[in-house]
Amino acid sequence: MAFPAEFLEELKKRNGIVDVINSYVPLKRAGNLYKACCPFHNEKTPSFYVYTGNDEHFYCYGCGAGGDVITFVMKAENTDYPSAVELLARRANLTVPNDGYNREASDKRKRTLDANREAARFFHNQLVSGNYPEASGYIKSRRLEAAVNRFGLGFCPPGKKLFNYMTDLGFKPKELQDAFLCNRGNYDIFENRIIFPVIDASGNVVGFSARSMEKKPADGRKYINTNDTAAFNKRRNLFALNLAKNSKSDYFILCEGQTDVIALHLSGFDSAIASLGTSFTEEQAQLIRRFRNKVLLCYDGDEAGRSKAVPAIKILNDAGIETKVITLPDGFDPDEFIQKYGKDRFELLIGQSIGQMDYRIGKALEGFDVSSADGRVAAADKLAEIISASPSPVEREIYTEKYAK
Ligand SMILES: [Zn+2]
Repeated sequence: MAFPAEFLEELKKRNGIVDVINSYVPLKRAGNLYKACCPFHNEKTPSFYVYTGNDEHFYCYGCGAGGDVITFVMKAENTDYPSAVELLARRANLTVPNDGYNREASDKRKRTLDANREAARFFHNQLVSGNYPEASGYIKSRRLEAAVNRFGLGFCPPGKKLFNYMTDLGFKPKELQDAFLCNRGNYDIFENRIIFPVIDASGNVVGFSARSMEKKPADGRKYINTNDTAAFNKRRNLFALNLAKNSKSDYFILCEGQTDVIALHLSGFDSAIASLGTSFTEEQAQLIRRFRNKVLLCYDGDEAGRSKAVPAIKILNDAGIETKVITLPDGFDPDEFIQKYGKDRFELLIGQSIGQMDYRIGKALEGFDVSSADGRVAAADKLAEIISASPSPVEREIYTEKYAK
């Protein structure tokens, strides 16, 4: 790494690993080392150890996570090496030496975040200015008025307005291009679109999702999402996590798209989140694990939604996150369901999804002696009967696999 070795040594000396980790998970002393329940996988008995002395490090015998204090911060903050170093430097009042490649990367990230913040402000002001009736009209027609402030929605006007505004503020064209705000010809990429800022758990505007106001956009793209930049990686971000993490619910509701998330939040389900233009990733599961152990999956009630749900459930389960499925009626997405039936009916769906199948299967199995071959055959028949009666193909597939053993 391009940070000078002496600097890294000083950084580690001033950021004792026990102190740092203890601010994330409470450590218990065990002889000359420390232990805790692992912050990176789900466990009830501690297998996460912190070793002190000359070679300070941590290791989890459960999931294999391990490394020094910088690695720990990278994992815990879901961030890259330079940013973790910077965070620790700030914590210890150290100045990061200004002579390495990493410094450049972290400067770039900071500059991109600054550009995003200014752009988000600009977009928002344009939308609330009333100067663009087509944008305000769209917000009204989609019943998004209450979301404008809560989600910082905005509008990107036509005619290089953002480019001109940002260059007046001192941003260079190259910086705006690298931030995925303008293209190589310096035109605003999100022109004529409604803007949904993507804000990370620390409150940074990391990127944008921009929706066309037309039913059939001329370029065929309903949404344009920020490409990967110095500040954004769509595999590692979740829409509305910044709000959902503060919810009183002990679970997240995971949806497919931001309009679903917004509809749920506006109806009081403030723990809804969504992945952004990607199928659900392991990185997103790790991110969720930092805040909750439980997810209710609420994908669209159609074939496409169901086929996306199954891999998402596997990834969540593998990350040690308890997962249930909210079954929407055929052809409904969460937004449409709430518009049509209201929030009380959605609340009912949440109630029905939780543990229903496990509960019923557990009950049914009580009557069978699974230690005998005959008993197992009879139990399997009963299971097949219950599972095949489920109206949800996703549930059927999950439970068939789960109870096949
Ligand atoms: Zn672990």
